[in-house]
Amino acid sequence: MGPGPSNPYPEVIEALTRPVLGHLDPEFISLLDETNERLRTVWRTSNLLTFPISATGSAGMEAAFVNFVQTGDVVVVGVNGVFGNRMCDVAARAGATVIPVEAEWGQAIDPQRLLDAHPNPQIIAVVHAETSTGVRNDIAPLGANKGGALLVVDCVTSLGGIPVLIDDWNVDIAYSGTQKCLGIPPGLAPLTVSERAMERVVPTPQSWYLDLNMIKDYVTGDGTRAYHHTAPISMLYGLHAGLGVVLEEGLDQAWERHRLCGDELHRRLPEIGFGLWAQQGHRLPELTTVTLPEGLDDVEGRRTLLERYGIEVGGGLGPVAGKVWRIGCMGHTARMRNVKMLLGALEDLVTATR
Ligand SMILES: *Cc1c(COP(=O)(O)O)cnc(C)c1O
Repeated sequence: MGPGPSNPYPEVIEALTRPVLGHLDPEFISLLDETNERLRTVWRTSNLLTFPISATGSAGMEAAFVNFVQTGDVVVVGVNGVFGNRMCDVAARAGATVIPVEAEWGQAIDPQRLLDAHPNPQIIAVVHAETSTGVRNDIAPLGANKGGALLVVDCVTSLGGIPVLIDDWNVDIAYSGTQKCLGIPPGLAPLTVSERAMERVVPTPQSWYLDLNMIKDYVTGDGTRAYHHTAPISMLYGLHAGLGVVLEEGLDQAWERHRLCGDELHRRLPEIGFGLWAQQGHRLPELTTVTLPEGLDDVEGRRTLLERYGIEVGGGLGPVAGKVWRIGCMGHTARMRNVKMLLGALEDLVTATR
């Protein structure tokens, strides 16, 4: 939200401008190791294979399927928004027989429906925080009852914003992105893989670049590290520094900061005339979806917000394009002053339509 407040953490900007080391320089390798350790803390996991994929969140999704799917494998996917659909597409391209379990957009997926969809799937996959709808899907019941399946969870818009407990919830594979609740520029996809899942990595994944069999030697190998691809050094400096900021604040405090901002938005927006769209009890604090008050134009309203107030709000996607707004309040932007500024701007907008 807003050009001023949406500047990344100063620590991250400083890190991005640091002199570039070689990707096999021992100093860089130790920074990578430290980054992975910080990621384990943020993921709440002890998984050895925890590292950032050198590409955006979608590459994390691709890595999560292409390494574990063989042609014909059954993959059950929860679909209640854009990113559930993307999971189906990615899994199908990896050769999976996909069983989509749909819920209405704006509603959460009943975990029991995912568990009942097939007697013995290889993978059950779900999006934790659906950025297209502002809905949180429950993960814990899936981990507790997944049987022989691997549990894949998209945590792109949840990591750093709401509790993500990889080990407690028995999640096998999870990926995220740097630019959502972690508040770091886009470009890396934190990934974590359980020991149980590591035993099931397919021998020759369809993707060479994302093949965990090879990447793991660079990421976790002891002593010498084998070259696989050149790590994006500056981005890793940025991630290392950004995770440092998050951990210095404290992960619990970061969750609390997001929660307080979300609570205030959810309390005040209806008073101004907006309708809360996502299912009650499953609303994300970091992504609030609203229906518009009578008389407020979607495109015009968002343009005014950006041009006059410097605040960017997302439009609706898929079936609700033009009908809802998606208000992101995540990472370094999740501050009460930004919430107040947005609410003030929205009040002005709505008053102007009367
Ligand atoms: C943003 C997002 C992605 C994709 O991440 P990119 O960094 O845009 O590739 C995947 N899943 C969810 C839930 C997201 O919000």
